[in-house]
Amino acid sequence: WAKADGKARWTLFDPERNANRMTRQSLSSTLRQAVERGEFTLEYQPLVALDGGRLRGVEALVRWEHPRFGRLAPNRFISLAEENGSIVQLGRWVLAESCRWARAWHKDHPEAPPFVSVNVAVRQVWDSDLVGDVAAVLDETGLPPALLQLELTESAVMGSTGRPLQALYALHEMGVRIAIDDFGTGYSNLAYLSRLPVTALKLDGSFVRGFRSREHPNPADETIVEALVQLAHRLGITVTAECVESAEQAERLRRIGCDTGQGWFYSRPVAPDRITAMLGGG
Ligand code: C2E
Ligand code: MG
Ligand code: MG
Ligand code: MG
Repeated sequence: WAKADGKARWTLFDPERNANRMTRQSLSSTLRQAVERGEFTLEYQPLVALDGGRLRGVEALVRWEHPRFGRLAPNRFISLAEENGSIVQLGRWVLAESCRWARAWHKDHPEAPPFVSVNVAVRQVWDSDLVGDVAAVLDETGLPPALLQLELTESAVMGSTGRPLQALYALHEMGVRIAIDDFGTGYSNLAYLSRLPVTALKLDGSFVRGFRSREHPNPADETIVEALVQLAHRLGITVTAECVESAEQAERLRRIGCDTGQGWFYSRPVAPDRITAMLGGG
């Protein structure tokens, strides 16, 4: 029993684990204030037409400029914000800020404006007036609804009834685009999704990773992606591939018929003025 006891004690007093827990607690308890203090920034990552290379849209990705810990990636705080409910407040800010920039890009480039794609957490669909928030922001900014895309995960919409389903239809009615994020990591029930007002699928990065190398092509993954793209297109749904890191991946995706690509091959997430520059607006 001595050994078991020792092990338990060691786990209990593991300093690294303890520090980690304290950091999480500290982050969690200051999230709300951080929204009010404006400690968050957004970077934007291009979504590029695989055929022709035009900038179609940009995804807004949040970062926390923490006064003590420096810049934090969303995987450090989004789940905490979901747990304590501050995601609703943070999500509202992300939505408003993204739409302000999208409106500016639209003004500069009315002939081919990029849409802005905003990640929406499950809790924003269930616990807040997402439809009301979106309507208010579109009204305030004057952004055409078609230039806003909302990214929801499969888990947020699968088995949707009641409130989330009503919200999806209301947003669709408004003309907002609805994308399923990280598609392929959850239930992946395209038959079910086809009954929802979904306009785009974002294929999870694991698919593209599956056909990364020339020496070890993975025909299974390419075949699956090709079939998914064909089925999505028949349902009137466009397809974006995430995590495109090489020219070869981009070319294979283009041949398969995938519509847009997003990833380091095109651009890392960047500050909004860099997007303005890419559009040629200086
Ligand atoms: P996501 O929505 O699937 O976003 C794509 C993630 O992949 C981003 O990570 C992006 O930087 C990263 N990425 C892009 N291209 C490549 C590539 O070529 N290779 C690799 N390895 N990665 C690439 P990021 O910015 O760290 O965001 C992580 C996740 O945090 C997002 O995944 C999204 O689920 C969540 N998130 C980000 N911003 C928000 C937000 O404003 N609200 C909510 N609710 N969630 C957010
Ligand atoms: Mg996303
Ligand atoms: Mg994604
Ligand atoms: Mg992802």
